[in-house]
Amino acid sequence: MMKIVNTSLYDSKNLKTLFCFIHTLMSKQEGRLLHWKSLQIKVMNKTKGNSYSGQACLGYVKHSTHSDQTDMWLSISKECSLHDIAQLFAHELMHSYGYNHHQFHTDPLTIEQIKIVDNQFNKHDLLSDKAFYIPKVGKSYKKMTHTLMNKYNWLSVDDISDIYCDGLLLEVEDARVDVEDLRYDLWHRAKSWKGAYDLSVWLITEEWQKEFTNNWTVNLGEYYE
Ligand SMILES: [Zn+2]
Repeated sequence: MMKIVNTSLYDSKNLKTLFCFIHTLMSKQEGRLLHWKSLQIKVMNKTKGNSYSGQACLGYVKHSTHSDQTDMWLSISKECSLHDIAQLFAHELMHSYGYNHHQFHTDPLTIEQIKIVDNQFNKHDLLSDKAFYIPKVGKSYKKMTHTLMNKYNWLSVDDISDIYCDGLLLEVEDARVDVEDLRYDLWHRAKSWKGAYDLSVWLITEEWQKEFTNNWTVNLGEYYE
């Protein structure tokens, strides 16, 4: 049985079924490929340029044990149609039979053969789960910080980048504490939303406020009164 080494976004088992089916179709005219059993096909994902391409050794090649055992290379993007994949494989298989380009039609499968393939296979089913994978959106510290601001109405995070002009600068404040009184080194500033989020979480613990305000008796702003 032919072997597939697959790193594409297609399902190996379903590709194998398709390729075996096409080989059977073609063998009606060409006969079974003599080295079908040992044929090794590498299937790769195509992300750039043409949506598919292929290459194959001409006829049977005896691989030395140390060399790459591949007889056929196929690169297929997940956007390829069933027709493209079927004709590409049939084309490369013609090379495996030993034919040069001038000896066969570039798309070797006839309209009738393509119809038979169409009746048996469905492009969507050929794809593996990998093809439908949608990467998770990373944590948004900006969103998480806004969630905290909605929950604690005394918490505010202001973008003060404009004033300082060297990248993002965020000011994190507890409105209950009188900021007029604060020394510069007590201002809570962050250069990223992660930093602002961490500061917000820390302010929610109220450790700093309790210390700074002598346990909520001095330096409280009017907001708190
Ligand atoms: Zn070719």
